[in-house]
Amino acid sequence: MLQVLILGSGSSGNCALVCTGKTRLLIDAGLSAGQIISRLASVGVGMDTVSGILITHEHGDHCRGLPVLLRKHPLPLLCNALTREVLRDCLPATRHWNIIPNGSSFEYAGLGIDTFSVPHDAADPMGFVLRHGDSALGILTDAGHATPVMRQRLKNLDTLFIEANYDTQLLSNDTKRPWSTKQRISGRHGHLSNEQAAELIVELATARLERVILGHLSRDCNTTDLATGAVRTALHQRFRHDVEIVCAPAAVPTSWHPVRSRPPTATGNTSAPGDDSPRKGLAAADSSASTGSGPVVWRQLELL
Ligand SMILES: [Zn+2]
Ligand SMILES: [Zn+2]
Repeated sequence: MLQVLILGSGSSGNCALVCTGKTRLLIDAGLSAGQIISRLASVGVGMDTVSGILITHEHGDHCRGLPVLLRKHPLPLLCNALTREVLRDCLPATRHWNIIPNGSSFEYAGLGIDTFSVPHDAADPMGFVLRHGDSALGILTDAGHATPVMRQRLKNLDTLFIEANYDTQLLSNDTKRPWSTKQRISGRHGHLSNEQAAELIVELATARLERVILGHLSRDCNTTDLATGAVRTALHQRFRHDVEIVCAPAAVPTSWHPVRSRPPTATGNTSAPGDDSPRKGLAAADSSASTGSGPVVWRQLELL
């Protein structure tokens, strides 16, 4: 069975864990290495059982933990070529670059992975749909606006993990952030507001959609109640009272959430044979990683 657990989500760091039986894949590594390892341990997962790390984009709140984590655990790193160009000088020598063209679909360790382009001010940000058996999990974070490609790729999901970054009024009233930062956050290559996330969720809420996990909530310009309320109101207006809404906190992991097709199979088992085939179907692999050992200087673009 495909399962997802968010280890932490917010401007302080983003990291999620997706599991299928024996396969465990991290999505981003924006918490410190110590936090990733300790939060994994708190949910009963050893870092040495993780199969790889899939990267959405290079911003610090998604990659900050990579240098130390990869030094301790030289895991395969899956990202696109432009993202690697930004990351490579900051990372320890590794033979585990796995380059995924944005827009490609491939299989990794028994998981089907569709990638798609996301409008955000990073080198080449990606969203994902992860598939296992009949189950489909969508992952969309750090997106300035909804695009036709997103809508096409994210239809027919069982679970959607999506950012609901800010409440429009709280951002407008915020006194900590300069006007230029607010413009960037609310711009077409910034982040999704609660209302934007709710609109997109309603569009994507086919009868199959069972659960929405909201993430990347701004500490200052959003609350769990506001984000959940906006999405709940939008879904209820469409008579969708059956979609569970979960908010992923920044400081602690969520519980495990099964990703399964509706209706459940008679056995409840959606596992497919052939799990754990390593790196099957990857577009390319490159072992020519940089040996750069200078100080890590992350782009400080994540201000919420
Ligand atoms: Zn970002
Ligand atoms: Zn982010």
